[in-house]
Amino acid sequence: MSDVGMDTIVSLCKRRGFVFPSSEIYGGIGSTWDYGPLGVELKRNVKQAWWNSVVHQREDMEGLDAAILMHPLTWKASGHIDGFTDALVDCRSCKKRYRVDHLAGEGDHRKCPQCKAEIDLKTNPPRLFNLMLKTYLGPIEDESAITYLRPETAQGIFVNFSNIVNSRHRKLPFGVAQIGKSFRNEITPGNFTFRTREFEQMEIEYFVRPEDAENSYKRWVEERFQWYQALGIKNDKLRLRVHAKDELAHYASGCTDIEYNFPFGWSELEGIANRGDFDLRQHAKISGKDLTYFDQAINKRYLPHVVEPSGGVDRAALAFLVDAYREEEVKGAKRVVLGLNKQLSPYKIAVLPLLKKNSDIVELAKKISSGLKKYFVVKYDDTASIGKLYRRQDEIGTLFCVTVDVQSLEDKMVTVRDRDTMHQDRVNIDKLDEYFQNKLS
Ligand code: ATP
Repeated sequence: MSDVGMDTIVSLCKRRGFVFPSSEIYGGIGSTWDYGPLGVELKRNVKQAWWNSVVHQREDMEGLDAAILMHPLTWKASGHIDGFTDALVDCRSCKKRYRVDHLAGEGDHRKCPQCKAEIDLKTNPPRLFNLMLKTYLGPIEDESAITYLRPETAQGIFVNFSNIVNSRHRKLPFGVAQIGKSFRNEITPGNFTFRTREFEQMEIEYFVRPEDAENSYKRWVEERFQWYQALGIKNDKLRLRVHAKDELAHYASGCTDIEYNFPFGWSELEGIANRGDFDLRQHAKISGKDLTYFDQAINKRYLPHVVEPSGGVDRAALAFLVDAYREEEVKGAKRVVLGLNKQLSPYKIAVLPLLKKNSDIVELAKKISSGLKKYFVVKYDDTASIGKLYRRQDEIGTLFCVTVDVQSLEDKMVTVRDRDTMHQDRVNIDKLDEYFQNKLS
């Protein structure tokens, strides 16, 4: 079985410590989630795999970690104060509020999904709702203290463009990558961690000569698509969706979404946009600073164009979880396996004593576990019978289980069980490091 329902994933996440409802003891706070002990490891691995691929493995990229709070004029320049809005309308029959673009129907004639009443946008015009979360900086809550929690990480990169060119002696093309929290007062959060009001983004701004933008855009679409594939997402669950002309922002010349076929349908994991020089031009205009780049090769000064691959950590993590989930039948019993890629599995190895009453076995197992911890993420566990321990580790995606038994005390060998094949190897304790280096590198 490969097609899993969201209920199954949500319940596994809660049961095994990946994701908990936030502030649960107070009844929760709508569509807000906490990553538990397993979830935090998975999310770190997703971010690490991304950072490694787009920063460490490349010569043309730099990293950045800009502040969440930015000068309010940033959001004037970026267009978020004036344009980051959803159009909302209330159904006059059942009083429910909707995003207009989520309503069936055409033009001014829409239908309420709840009570099916007609919603006439002419007599019941939509109101614009800004998605930025507002707050006040400092002790006085007046207009001048208003600031925003960033709705995207990208602007932190644009405002640091000159700093990076100057401090890193950068020539075009080059890019800047950043991972961090963003906030949007979404009207319709939901589908578990897919759409929330607080989430993490992984964003790149790639600066190029204007004439190179189109090629660079195509390359990034390809590279980012391959990243998800390389981390194990099934081919038939992943697709590209090219935006139609009328979906594009006025300044953009192209945008492609990478979509995953979630249990609730095809949905965006990441968007790659060819943004022209809009962002740098706007910041130059509002800040009064010259953000042009001097291209020595052609002795010309100009505003670079920008290609932006922008993805979500939470959405990627959710796609990896859904995609990895499988149920199998083994000797008449159901086995649940999270077949996560080895880079993403929260724990690489579990060390399990076969008999927890035997203190020699326990001691040896603990010693093996602490030795392996120098190189791998390892968990020692003796809280249940071996059968149960295997099942738990399969369900959280642990790649290998090392079992220490009575025989191990004599022959200094342990059993290593592979998560996917369930094949068992008998391995010399002195050779375990090397064995796992080979398997996990
Ligand atoms: P959507 O159309 O789904 O609202 P978007 O096109 O507004 O997404 P972008 O502004 O392009 O999203 O943001 C880039 C990425 O950030 C998205 O591809 C997604 O992975 C992530 N993201 C955006 N909004 C949210 C959210 N509310 N919750 C979780 N992740 C989000």
